[in-house]
Amino acid sequence: MKRLRNVKILATLGPASSDEAMIQKLHEAGADLFRINMSHSSHELMRTLVGRIRAVEKNCGRPIGILADLQGPKLRVGKFAEGSVTLKPGQTFTLDDQDLPGDVNRVYLPHPEILEAVQPGHRLLIDDGRLQLLAVESNKTSIVCKVVSGTKISDRKGVSLPDTTLGVGALTEKDRSDLDAVLAVNDVDWVALSFIQRPEDLAEVRKIARGRVGLMSKIEKPQALECIDEIIELSDALMVARGDLGVEMPIESVPGIQKQLTRACRKAGKPVVVATQMLESMISAPVPTRAEVSDVATAVFEGADAVMLSAESAAGDYPVEAVETMASIARKVERDPNYPGIIYSQRPQPDATGADAISLAARQIAETLNLSAIVCYTSSGNTGLRAARERPQVPVIALSPVIQTARRLSVVWGLHCVVTQDATDLDDMVDRACRIAFREEFGKPGDRIIISAGVPLGTPGSTNMLRIAYIGSDGMTGI
Ligand code: PGA
Ligand code: MN
Repeated sequence: MKRLRNVKILATLGPASSDEAMIQKLHEAGADLFRINMSHSSHELMRTLVGRIRAVEKNCGRPIGILADLQGPKLRVGKFAEGSVTLKPGQTFTLDDQDLPGDVNRVYLPHPEILEAVQPGHRLLIDDGRLQLLAVESNKTSIVCKVVSGTKISDRKGVSLPDTTLGVGALTEKDRSDLDAVLAVNDVDWVALSFIQRPEDLAEVRKIARGRVGLMSKIEKPQALECIDEIIELSDALMVARGDLGVEMPIESVPGIQKQLTRACRKAGKPVVVATQMLESMISAPVPTRAEVSDVATAVFEGADAVMLSAESAAGDYPVEAVETMASIARKVERDPNYPGIIYSQRPQPDATGADAISLAARQIAETLNLSAIVCYTSSGNTGLRAARERPQVPVIALSPVIQTARRLSVVWGLHCVVTQDATDLDDMVDRACRIAFREEFGKPGDRIIISAGVPLGTPGSTNMLRIAYIGSDGMTGI
């Protein structure tokens, strides 16, 4: 199954898309990997979904990535005696440590660490910013606020604190237990970390994960942007989590941040996912708005690795149509005459490594000779990442003997991953690459491909060789 596009599609699973037949349909429509949102999934449901995705993977014979998204320190107020109250701008309203039903003067905030961290002058944004409070007094047991704007607050609404650096790490008790469950399944490729604030948050998770999953940092807090270089360095991938980012930061700064993060990740050679509200109106309509089409197109023109669907695929009425719409926008944009110029204006310089020198040369040779594909052998995935960092105009096939590598690379721009044994010698390496390029319909007999590999074969980190080869007349050998 050849995708005919470079950007990948990450689809969130949920009530609208949890049976195997629907997951299969979403994959056929174009979803390259799936997100399981641990905010809404029990451990049992997570295990069931992983099993169903792997069953679909087996049916279609293509590696599929699975991302488990940890909820992180998402803060919520307690409940109200009447379910909700109406406040007046200018009045005072208190959040405190009393586990009692709320009223028009106060509500319970079940996060003692927040009661300590918020200082007078900090903003508290309730319900995605619909209600804005300003802290005027705080002690360890309560925060007295003034209502700045908005009126309504109801049970369990979310609280965002754009001005407060929280003393908590990125993992709550729930996250720790979710992470343990995810690692125990031993079949999940990526874990996303919500609301990370600083590099130390990642260090903690990395220790627990011990390489068994890739770590994707969700950038949704201003504190994370202040140390973004270190966060990128310590992450395996980034998500531009525009939903919460647009609450914690002025909404008009989100597009600029999206560009900044996409460029920084392309430079670092780390995958970047653009997420949230991309086709929001398709939750309840079979066609998107023009503005949404343009939003997806922007991410594709920027060279993002993947675009994500949230409620559109998890809980909407048109999950398959949403994936198909994303795929067709991607195919159209990537064939636009302006696409190469726009995407290559941000091409990063190679680092002084064998993998980068070889990736750059492979791209130049493939483009100069108009070859059918670049084939790279990659066991850890690093050579695949560096090949994709070049954003070649020629398809890239990533061959790996390690299924976990192939699955993890499913989020990466342009990589068509195939699991195959390590080659036994140079002839086998060429034959194998040609056979797979032919079988996967990237070339026909007589077409040429370029192969990158490391000699001696099977030594990770040794990418040092390029070879141009013809696909043989039987499609089974290379010359
Ligand atoms: P969420 O993350 O959907 O888990 O909140 C994405 C975002 O905030 O944009
Ligand atoms: Mn979020």
